[in-house]
Amino acid sequence: MESVSLHCTKCHKPFRADQAVFRCDACNEPLEAEEISKGRIREGNMLNQTIWERYGDFFPFLESGFKISLGEGFTPLAESRALAESLGMQGIYFKNESQNPTWSFKDRGTSAGIMHAKGLGYKRIGTVSTGNMATSVAAYGTASGMETFVLVSKGISQEKINPIAIYNPHLIKVDGDYGELYFESLRIGKENDIYFVNSDAPMRVEGSKTIAYEICEQLGFDMPDYVIVPTSAGGNIRGIEKGFREFRACGLIDRAPKIICAQALGCSPIYAAYKNGSEEISRAEDPHTIAHAIENPYPPSGNRVLKLLRQNGGISAAVSDEEILKAQALMAGEGIFGQPASAVPLAVVIKLKAEGILKGNEKIVCIVTGSGLKYTAALEMHELKSSECKLKELGNFIKNL
Ligand SMILES: *Cc1c(COP(=O)(O)O)cnc(C)c1O
Ligand SMILES: [Zn+2]
Repeated sequence: MESVSLHCTKCHKPFRADQAVFRCDACNEPLEAEEISKGRIREGNMLNQTIWERYGDFFPFLESGFKISLGEGFTPLAESRALAESLGMQGIYFKNESQNPTWSFKDRGTSAGIMHAKGLGYKRIGTVSTGNMATSVAAYGTASGMETFVLVSKGISQEKINPIAIYNPHLIKVDGDYGELYFESLRIGKENDIYFVNSDAPMRVEGSKTIAYEICEQLGFDMPDYVIVPTSAGGNIRGIEKGFREFRACGLIDRAPKIICAQALGCSPIYAAYKNGSEEISRAEDPHTIAHAIENPYPPSGNRVLKLLRQNGGISAAVSDEEILKAQALMAGEGIFGQPASAVPLAVVIKLKAEGILKGNEKIVCIVTGSGLKYTAALEMHELKSSECKLKELGNFIKNL
């Protein structure tokens, strides 16, 4: 643990990794773990191995003993040949994160965060979320025997609260500004010995590196041109970019793919800053999109994401709700049902192709961050069909379809 440290993503101030620190006390920007530049993939059978074992060299913080895994990661990378052909693209792949224990990629970072917290002696874990992260922390918190605190906003619907409550955490509806709650939770956590593994906590970012590692292995280390990540707080896209960067530093791949930060037009603070050539995000006013999972008006890692796009040669794009719903249906046509936020990458492919930014000779990986069953209200917005007939007439009915 000693040899590895965290540093501020803006002023580079160093921090020790053997303590729970989340943001820089000098400039309030997020912290990041040191880049791993020496490591290899461990051999072994993935049926009896966890992602933490296979990629152990890249997680020096987590060596301390306690392990928690519910089988997160090792998710499929499905190629859609028909879709690539109809869109005029060289290759389209879906990294299907809905196949995690609580049906979203959040489980990777939750697992990493809890292992880190336990290693530091914490007995309490917490998060601020109304969606997938809340479910994930509630599940992993209870499975690892930690006292678990989930802070949600007061207006949360029953449909959203039940899948969190089933794991029986301290589930607290907080009346107040939800954006402020993120920063407030870090202060309260410090006072009450609760390790808050929020959206862009350094260990959550570390957990997302495994998405990149798996893509490298799944493509036989032949890198795609672009990886598209639906982005809210910015934790996941940071982890994915870092994962490719580390594999490159270790000589496992010879180039890193370009990263595309994908947002919904109804809440696109990173895209807005990118378009203006600004180095800092501004709060998005009046956020509204069907892609609730990426509806953060003031992403805590927004500035870091802008910088990584500049360094990586990546871009930012945003699409309308209409485009998102269309993409959700198209993906379902390929057998993959993602929640609206998870359809944003495909909508971005279609948009960038129409604008000529994508030429058609590219190989693209879309990150399907969470399951379509997480937000069934979106189903009402599709024209879904079924038909009906009498049993006696079924044979003829089918012949005449
Ligand atoms: C959390 C989440 C995101 C956004 O990830 P960030 O790390 O906050 O940028 C995207 N899609 C889904 C389904 C999510 O749950
Ligand atoms: Zn700083």
